[in-house]
Amino acid sequence: MPLNIPFDNTYADLPEGFFSSQNPTPVKAPSLIAFNKDLANLLSFDGGDIDEMAQTFAGNVVPTGAAPLAQLYAGHQFGNYNPQLGDGRAVLLGEVVGTDGVRRDIQLKGSGPTPYSRNGDGRAWLGPVLREYVVSEAMYALGIPTTRALAAVQTGEPVFREAAFPGAVLTRVARSHLRVGTFQVFAHRGQLGDLQTLTDYAIQRHYPDATGPMDLLRAVSAAQAELITAWMSVGFIHGVMNTDNCSISGETIDYGPCAFMDAYSERRVFSSIDRGARYAFANQPDIAVWNMAQLATSLLQLATDKEAAVEEATAIVHAMPAQLEADWLKRFGAKIGIAAATPSDHAMIEDLLQLMEKDGSDFTNTFAALGTESARDQFQDREAFDAWATTWNARLAHEADPNAIMAAANPVIIPRNHRIEEMIQTAVTGDFAPFERLNKALATPFEATDTDLHRAPSAAQIVPATFCGT
Ligand code: AMP
Ligand code: MG
Repeated sequence: MPLNIPFDNTYADLPEGFFSSQNPTPVKAPSLIAFNKDLANLLSFDGGDIDEMAQTFAGNVVPTGAAPLAQLYAGHQFGNYNPQLGDGRAVLLGEVVGTDGVRRDIQLKGSGPTPYSRNGDGRAWLGPVLREYVVSEAMYALGIPTTRALAAVQTGEPVFREAAFPGAVLTRVARSHLRVGTFQVFAHRGQLGDLQTLTDYAIQRHYPDATGPMDLLRAVSAAQAELITAWMSVGFIHGVMNTDNCSISGETIDYGPCAFMDAYSERRVFSSIDRGARYAFANQPDIAVWNMAQLATSLLQLATDKEAAVEEATAIVHAMPAQLEADWLKRFGAKIGIAAATPSDHAMIEDLLQLMEKDGSDFTNTFAALGTESARDQFQDREAFDAWATTWNARLAHEADPNAIMAAANPVIIPRNHRIEEMIQTAVTGDFAPFERLNKALATPFEATDTDLHRAPSAAQIVPATFCGT
């Protein structure tokens, strides 16, 4: 059966300077590791035969209707502006409209050099490809906006990093790959016509009700506030929330040095390159505001009445902390069984988090155990927890069904870092059983199926750092 993807491309019709046409570079010996059939069906197509899928998702065969291209963008990396980034190891094959009516990009990541590769080889190795596959699909199952994984293939070629590793390509699906950095590149170059075209395109594609640049800023800010607080509610640390990794659609994008934390700590950092802890767990809301300030700066260039626009943009960005707090309260309120938490509940949630931090309690398992006998076992200082629980239970007396609220807000399984690491080590030897096991268990994160995967790592199992995976 041939692979028949119903491409319907729009980005390729944007002005020439937005991208470079670029075919993927063929690889030696493609072999299919994974194909996400449910996602393919959502995208309005079926699989093909295994060999054909391997050829297509490795980039050896360009499917009919695709118009492969590498997108231009810029971005602030760790606070410093880099005037030109762009898809250095990815190509957009094209777009499809799914059975749900949503337009999505299909992109190959690790598909060879492009004009934006700078000194990079345009490739990816198996470890980061499988990490992104597992973690992005886990994020989806948790109900948090994210890019998704359609396929993973091995290339049969080595990729050289600290050592030689097996090469791989990930097929990534996103509502779009527009980033804050896509706006920045045109704003910084003073290409205002292109900036206007991009703004119109983004509005039409993502926020059709938005009336102009400031309304777009408002919508993206709301989406980012929701996203970041959703991450925090599952203990996720993105690790590299640069403006080029900050999506206009409000999806999680770029699973590099990310991780879900085990023991709760506000200051937690996993990324080996984040030496200043810029992207630490509890810094993420501030970073979202910072990123939206950069988007605002770019969009302001389109204003005819500059003074009024500056005032409006400032108001939107300044409203973000309150929005983040409201979203945080909603998420964390639900985690302790409160349907509609109010500011007066904030201190109680914070008290629990502080007890967890002091005792090194496991974030996921503590919340999952709330309301059961074993909750106190997650703490060293059980009397302190009991005292907290007395206040908490008094508050829950006003809630209709706190257990149902908690069950829907507290996953029992997350992609733990030591399991991801173990899965990668095993895959390198050619054994994909742990990869498949993780995917299966993480597909239903609120159901206790593979309970062995729920366990927090022992001291010896802890994987404290993650690497960018480039
Ligand atoms: P990331 O850290 O994945 O957000 O990537 C930042 C920038 O570096 C993007 O422009 C990437 O396309 C580029 N990049 C990362 N790895 C490679 C690579 N192996 N070859 C070429 N470009 C890369
Ligand atoms: Mg990136």
